Amino acid sequence: MSREHNIKNQQSHLKQLKHLILDLDGTIYKGETLFPFVHEFFDIIQNLGIGYTFITNNSAFSVRQYLQKLNTLGLPATVDTIYTSALMTIDYLQSRMKGIKRLFIVGTDGLKSEFRDEGFEIVTSPETQCPDAVVVGFDPNLDFTALCKAGYWIQRDVPFIATNPDRICPTDQKTLLIDCGSLCAALETATGKSPDAVLGKPDPRMIQGVINRKHLENGDVAVIGDRLYTDMEMAKRADVLSVLVLTGETQPDDISDCSVQPDIVVDNVLEFAKILQKYR
Ligand SMILES: [Mg+2]
Repeated sequence: MSREHNIKNQQSHLKQLKHLILDLDGTIYKGETLFPFVHEFFDIIQNLGIGYTFITNNSAFSVRQYLQKLNTLGLPATVDTIYTSALMTIDYLQSRMKGIKRLFIVGTDGLKSEFRDEGFEIVTSPETQCPDAVVVGFDPNLDFTALCKAGYWIQRDVPFIATNPDRICPTDQKTLLIDCGSLCAALETATGKSPDAVLGKPDPRMIQGVINRKHLENGDVAVIGDRLYTDMEMAKRADVLSVLVLTGETQPDDISDCSVQPDIVVDNVLEFAKILQKYR
């Protein structure tokens, strides 16, 4: 079916949209460079009174650190327009594992501060203190000893929680950034235990987290992203409108072969903002 046909099919849905969940890399920017049409995109959706949330699987930065990054790039972000895999992990522990208070964290100071701000106690002497859970995130300053202590407790059946499944974090430098998924694979090989929960994209609870925090309904929300198997798959599983942009990973030819079919395909976010303008 043609792109235009798909858009017409979603006409009533497009009229009702209140909130956009925005992927970042490949959708809003590439590496450290904003796409040139992004400012016009925000002008249009702000004029239409449509809200937005930036989502990221990167658990190395706290929301405040991310805010600084997005503002430096010139994006209209505020603390309550950012939802990270760390916040999703906090929402998960608070709603699904209520007794858990004391955490041993393999992660950055930024990640630890997010948990501390929400009232969790961070175990600093894992030799003497048994944690209620081990949380593993993306940690560019990985402390090998901390990884080993995490393994010790995981082997003793302490719940094992991963903030995100990514094996590597994208970079334009000549290096491979080993991400949370790969650290968890090392722990899994060492202990024989796999994580009890893996948060972040593509788990649809990432979308549900935004919906709950913003008091929205599924029909109010669209996910805009550049990846079929993460962004679009997650939108489908969360039962919200899925909008694929072609500014990142996906090439037009990839779409027809894919088991995940986005509701709407556009060249870029600005084209989608113009469609919203037309249907309101
Ligand atoms: Mg992306």
